[in-house]
Amino acid sequence: MKTRLYTPGPTPVPEGVMLRMARPIIHHRTEEFKNAFAEVNENLQYLFCTEEPVLTLTSSGTGGMEAALANTLCRGEEVITVNGGKFGERWGEIATAYGLVNRQIDVEWGTAVTVEMIRERLVSYPNARAICLTHSETSTGVFTDIKEIASAVRDEFDGLIIVDGITAVGAHEMRFDEWGIDVAVTGSQKGLMIPPGLAFITLSKRAWDAAEKSDLPSFYFDLKRARVAYEKGDTAWTPAVTLVLGLREALAMIRSEGREQVWRRHARLAAGLRSGLTALGFELFGAPPSNAVTSVLLPEGGSSFEKVMKQKYGITMAGGQEALKGKIFRVSHLGYYDDGDMLTFLHYVERTMSDLELTFEAGAGVSAAQQTFTSLLAEELPTS
Ligand SMILES: *Cc1c(COP(=O)(O)O)cnc(C)c1O
Repeated sequence: MKTRLYTPGPTPVPEGVMLRMARPIIHHRTEEFKNAFAEVNENLQYLFCTEEPVLTLTSSGTGGMEAALANTLCRGEEVITVNGGKFGERWGEIATAYGLVNRQIDVEWGTAVTVEMIRERLVSYPNARAICLTHSETSTGVFTDIKEIASAVRDEFDGLIIVDGITAVGAHEMRFDEWGIDVAVTGSQKGLMIPPGLAFITLSKRAWDAAEKSDLPSFYFDLKRARVAYEKGDTAWTPAVTLVLGLREALAMIRSEGREQVWRRHARLAAGLRSGLTALGFELFGAPPSNAVTSVLLPEGGSSFEKVMKQKYGITMAGGQEALKGKIFRVSHLGYYDDGDMLTFLHYVERTMSDLELTFEAGAGVSAAQQTFTSLLAEELPTS
């Protein structure tokens, strides 16, 4: 049986990246590594749309989140976080662990925070020094409009806008410099198409100024130290050499496809999958939806849906977390996926529905997705 991974991290790794990582390890203080790292750094800036350094940390994404707060804030400062899912909640947990005061906005899981909610919070807590947001809330599949929020509050708020872009970078437009974001984080096993183990973080000038004043403890994740090394084309500690070399290949793929085209492809895959699932009678969960992951309510009589998909058809997807456990399943289209991967998924959904004796119109899912793909691809064609 062929196995297929449809989880929003880890995501599938392209063959060329795997082959590169299979080669013998090299030492990191060599020309060969430095050249690769320089290319990686430039392509990360391209992907984040920034002139600022994008620092590579050896950790999963959460390490990047921790570094974001630990380096830019001072003991006892207030931060605004948004608990609209497991990852938004994590910002608050990190803040509390570092002795910050968490002024959390609770939004119903499956919905997104609005500009009005953020504005209200800023009025209630005028001393807040940071707003921590989640661009794509992977636990619910909900997208937050960072561009809109940043442009609405940027002029009135001189604190930091900190963004968990862990499943957004590579799936959604993210223009770090232009939008006025201060800190953005992503992880390697999501849109960057390599295995887990690296986190990436970029800071605006405002955030670097805040880093000068920060009095929170950090050592391994000391970003000032990471930046000094970066300026020399180096890393503070032994980097995950193999992952960096794999990343060079993955970023070269993104660069040759073009970031705008990569964003468009994710929008198309998400729209096609959603139309296919809807045509089969599924109800989608959460709005507005992320282009990285689609959340779907488990149908009545479908409690063993994930199990059959996995055991009989080799398809791994993600279930719901915490309050959403047993209520939803989540399908990734983040990273190394194409239209055919979505059609394949829908095909096995139909097989599983038959197995479970659920009612649906045979072929409706694949057909609806194909129509969506065809019409979106036509829009992508140059008009002249
Ligand atoms: C995966 C993910 C994280 C956590 O990353 P780890 O690599 O598991 O530490 C944080 N935020 C979002 C939105 C994610 O999808």
